[in-house]
Amino acid sequence: MHAYRAPAALFLIAITLLAPVPGLAQTRAAPAAELPSLGDGNSMGTSAERRLGERIAREIYRDPDYIDDAILVEYVQSIWQPLLAAARQRGELTDELDQRFAWEVLMGADRTINAFAVPGGYLGLHLGLIGVVTSDDELASVLGHELSHVTQRHIARMMDSQSRQTPWMIGAMVLGALAASKNPDAANAMIVGGQAAAVQNQLNFSRDMEREADRIGYGVMTQAGFDPLGFVSMFEKLQQASRISDNGSFPYLRSHPLTTERIADMQSRQALDARPTPTPQSPVQAMMAARARVLGNPGVDMLRAWVGEAKGAKPTGPAMDVRSVGVLYAGTLSALRQRDFAQARGLVARLQALVEPHAAAARIARLLAAEIEWTAGDLPATAALVDLQAPGRPELLLGSQIRTRSGKAAEAIARLQPWVALHPRDGTAWQLLAAAYTAQGQTLRAIRAEAEAQVARLDYAGAMDRFRAAQDWARKPPAGSGPVDDIEASIIDTRARQTQALLKQQAQDKLDK
Ligand SMILES: [Zn+2]
Repeated sequence: MHAYRAPAALFLIAITLLAPVPGLAQTRAAPAAELPSLGDGNSMGTSAERRLGERIAREIYRDPDYIDDAILVEYVQSIWQPLLAAARQRGELTDELDQRFAWEVLMGADRTINAFAVPGGYLGLHLGLIGVVTSDDELASVLGHELSHVTQRHIARMMDSQSRQTPWMIGAMVLGALAASKNPDAANAMIVGGQAAAVQNQLNFSRDMEREADRIGYGVMTQAGFDPLGFVSMFEKLQQASRISDNGSFPYLRSHPLTTERIADMQSRQALDARPTPTPQSPVQAMMAARARVLGNPGVDMLRAWVGEAKGAKPTGPAMDVRSVGVLYAGTLSALRQRDFAQARGLVARLQALVEPHAAAARIARLLAAEIEWTAGDLPATAALVDLQAPGRPELLLGSQIRTRSGKAAEAIARLQPWVALHPRDGTAWQLLAAAYTAQGQTLRAIRAEAEAQVARLDYAGAMDRFRAAQDWARKPPAGSGPVDDIEASIIDTRARQTQALLKQQAQDKLDK
């Protein structure tokens, strides 16, 4: 496995190997300061790296597997934001990088276990990975490692070492590797070709970079308050998987040599920090992993199997049976995916009864119940289950749709407007705002919100198309549409100019190659 690198994943996560080895565990780690630094790596400018990252991120947004699932996004953010804060505190994340880079996690509805850092502060995360973690700490160990590749400017340094490749070509290589990672057969065909394997070698971080990402990521993760044992258990999972098979489900394992140096590094850290038992799985985490498994396109046989498992679940108590929580959540959502509403309703009722004493878990179960009614088209039942005043993004997004559909678009707008002012890159919120404006007959604002949704997904050409439509509308509003809102029209002109400049920059980047 170490000698063979598939083009299946790029900038892959290097999860650290922490298998306990007797004897080694007693060895003290070399203090972090003694490890060699890899230099400051500012050869590729932060602006250039961000633009390259946007090119790649735009393709990820366009991919049919890209998923903005409000529940899972909120969960991942609850881990990602503390990691960013810790990296700032430690000085790993400098003000310049903080402002220049995106620091966004993009999720893919893909059952393979993968996560990767993209230039410019974008991270790709497959649902398959969320589906196998059993604690927030495990996910934090993965994200902390990837975050550190970015803060340490490993990508810029790698680009620099590829002196014959322009950033534009590297972007194309990254996209090719991403596409291949989603199709194990294509990946194998490329290996036979040999050339692609060489490309993948160029895209992998060096062993020293992996060790540095381990070291810094571990510091960031523990400073953020996560349990260091998350590193251990995550790695044990990977190690087990690598023993069982190499079937394309674990793309990063194939490209991540688990070197003896990295194993030794992490065992030393473990000896310093380990506590006797890891944090037990929380009911919320069990539901998040279940959701990720079901939304990761597992196939209809798996959905059926999960429904069957949930029907047979017999929670043990008095303490909450977290395993049954996950089983019931997966079964409910699987039934919903198959549009078996009766089954989904029956299972979610059992889930809600089980998690009722736990407020955070009860909220997630209630949102699942609301999702069932929404999908079934029962608007009043959905509305009864959603706390429309709650501050969370899932409530905001679902609540806006409920309001717009029930003739209260003005209320939806009142909630969404301040949100997009604070979160201008929330494309989904812009889309819902466009729908609310449309319901209100505010065409100009609706078209502008559609344009902003495209900007948020980095599709500047698509955005320009909408801005021009808005300008045309403002110049010649259809009869009976009332006076044109001059302030809105002038905002649209400004945003169109700004977006046009971004589009021009993209074209220039292509020419510069
Ligand atoms: Zn790595």
